[in-house]
Amino acid sequence: MLIVQKYGGTSVANVERIKAVAERVVKTAKQGHKVVVVVSAMSGETDKLINLAHQVSASPSEREMDLLLSSGERVTSALTAMAIEELGCKAMAFTGRQMGIITDAVHTKARIEKITGERAKKALEENYIIVVAGFQGITEGEADVTTLGRGGSDLSAVAIASALDADLCEIYTDVDGVYTTDPNIVPEARKLDKISYEEMLEFASLGAKVLQTRSVEFAMKYNVPTVVRSSFNDNPGTLVVKEDKDMENVVVSGVAYDKNQVKLTIMSVPDKPGIAAKIFNAIANANVVVDMIVQNISSDGKATDISFTVPKTDSKRALKITEDVAKELGAKGVTTREDIAKISIVGVGMRTHSGVAAKMFETLAKHGVNIMMISTSEIKVSCVIDSKYTELAVRVLHDTFGLAGGKV
Ligand code: ADP
Ligand code: ASP
Ligand code: MG
Repeated sequence: MLIVQKYGGTSVANVERIKAVAERVVKTAKQGHKVVVVVSAMSGETDKLINLAHQVSASPSEREMDLLLSSGERVTSALTAMAIEELGCKAMAFTGRQMGIITDAVHTKARIEKITGERAKKALEENYIIVVAGFQGITEGEADVTTLGRGGSDLSAVAIASALDADLCEIYTDVDGVYTTDPNIVPEARKLDKISYEEMLEFASLGAKVLQTRSVEFAMKYNVPTVVRSSFNDNPGTLVVKEDKDMENVVVSGVAYDKNQVKLTIMSVPDKPGIAAKIFNAIANANVVVDMIVQNISSDGKATDISFTVPKTDSKRALKITEDVAKELGAKGVTTREDIAKISIVGVGMRTHSGVAAKMFETLAKHGVNIMMISTSEIKVSCVIDSKYTELAVRVLHDTFGLAGGKV
């Protein structure tokens, strides 16, 4: 079999752990498999680099930012390859560029366009273990270094697995798999043996950072067999698979939270056609992804408030653009709120069961948690609340929907 193994930041956090990763890789190779390893930077390293950049510049250029951030993964890829060689196997480390990972030019959140990987394929044939620096690629024309968004090594792994037609993509992390909610917040959370691509996609996009959203999108689109496991033990992990019949019997399969959003409100914008288009076009043109949007009907038919949320990392840019548009539209002004959290319940069974949203609102109300925004889809309900209630809300919802069961 050809197996892609991705090791996250905590799994390569120091030299001891890198050596342990090398042992697991070599063990897999000795079982007769070809192995491609994808590594993240040591945990905390990417944040440290971002911090350094901000000490030098208030708004560092994104092109240089990418060059800087890509260095964290280069370090771990080279060290991991060395550690594997030390155990007597042939290994070769590759940067994103050497792996032929071609992306668009949207710095800090580039999309993968193709993976050529000729050299890596040749090396694999020659029985080398390949170690690829995650989270990065290059643009086709200028060969500028790009990064794939936070948590992007998951995407590197899934995309490489797809490009090389791997039999399995293993995502090794610091928990045993995907749980009914973050096990670091709710110790009673239950590990799921399997989860559908659709649910995992909702889970990820709603903040469960165990898999990066785009990696799940990619895995779903190209049917990449993916499993999430712990790098600290041999427990079987969680399979991410196509939905099957039994999955709809479970109404709510998990609770997710996201503290990385900011709410912007444009006050008193004219209530007439074309206004929302104008605002959100301007934001989209700056490559900022808007999540929730709430617009009230105006009581006097003339002016209304529009609120929406954007990722914290883009909030300064979004604010600037929104203020410009607000001025142009003659709105009263723009306010922001950073201390918010989005709490969501997810489950494919919601398609066929009613009353789930009401039960969520009732539970939050019973615990004195006010809801600022609501959004729903076929398989999820999300509420924006004051961030100080995040842990409380996650715990009580996990309990209300009967998700507990202890770690497996
Ligand atoms: P890595 O560095 O390996 O990429 P991450 O920190 O990105 O790891 O993701 C793993 C973390 O995701 C866990 O430590 C856990 O706190 C968090 N997490 C959030 N929601 C869930 C969930 N439903 N199941 C498992 N882990 C979750
Ligand atoms: N090192 C990057 C980050 O911290 C990418 C990753 O870990 O997947 O976001
Ligand atoms: Mg991660």
